[in-house]
Amino acid sequence: MRIGVDLGGTNIAAGIVDDDGKVLAKKSVATQAQKGPDVVLADILRLCKELMGESAVPVRHVGIGIPGTVNSSRGMVLMAPNINFKNVPVSQEMSRLLNIPVYLDNDANCAALGEARFGAARGSQNSITVTLGTGVGGGIIIGGKIYTGTFFGAGEIGHQIIRAGGNVCGCGQRGCWEAYASAASLIRQARRWEHRITTSMIAEMAGGDLEKITAKIIFDAAGAGDGLAREVIDEYVGNLCIGLGNLINIFQPDVMVIGGGVSGHGQGLIDAIECRMPDMVFNGDVLTKFVIARLGNDAGIVGAACLGE
Ligand SMILES: [Zn+2]
Repeated sequence: MRIGVDLGGTNIAAGIVDDDGKVLAKKSVATQAQKGPDVVLADILRLCKELMGESAVPVRHVGIGIPGTVNSSRGMVLMAPNINFKNVPVSQEMSRLLNIPVYLDNDANCAALGEARFGAARGSQNSITVTLGTGVGGGIIIGGKIYTGTFFGAGEIGHQIIRAGGNVCGCGQRGCWEAYASAASLIRQARRWEHRITTSMIAEMAGGDLEKITAKIIFDAAGAGDGLAREVIDEYVGNLCIGLGNLINIFQPDVMVIGGGVSGHGQGLIDAIECRMPDMVFNGDVLTKFVIARLGNDAGIVGAACLGE
């Protein structure tokens, strides 16, 4: 039995995870990031103590997923702007207070580890999990372990540049994959067609309110044959495949897991990707399998619980 903690910008979620990757009990509290790291860490400590008290079997260790850059070997958060952490040591003190080991890693890396051990990439040695949500996140698993890079910043796959001088990304660079392949970018690409969108099925499905357009609506409209939606999706999938192709050419994983809001489109998205991939991969021989993420919101907790194993 171990505890996985998913420390997010709005909530801290902690769960007891068994040896089959099942979340047996879960607790959460709001993240009081504005009150500083001490308060956030005290809340995590309390959740862990409560869960340890309720577990029938002793808890072996705690793993925490952090929304930022983490020195996982020293158990220290280097930089996590969303939660106001900068150079905060975590593992040593928390481990002393709980009397069991405490491990840290980046949250997207944790989600990738969860999918690799117990989710869509179970049984694979090398996998990459790509999360297409507000941004594009990811984690690289090599030989069953998270690849952090020498300075712990590896796996920022959303910030590979796919267009020199292209769209501005949230990180300040131009042309990042995230600026083309996130759910937010997909919606932005549809809204760009101001004149056509009002008479499209996209606007109709959003009840005439362009602010209510979601990635799902655009996929649904395309599925129903809407011309604009089809063009937008076509362009989107093309850009998505540039980044996926780069990752395959560099890493050639057994499995590529697609998660996040856009992955809700399921097999239709996988089919569209597989159709394009031969043009994106060296020699056109795509051996990597594409699958939709399986652990959903629990990926962070399950993956964090696998840290240190
Ligand atoms: Zn970027």
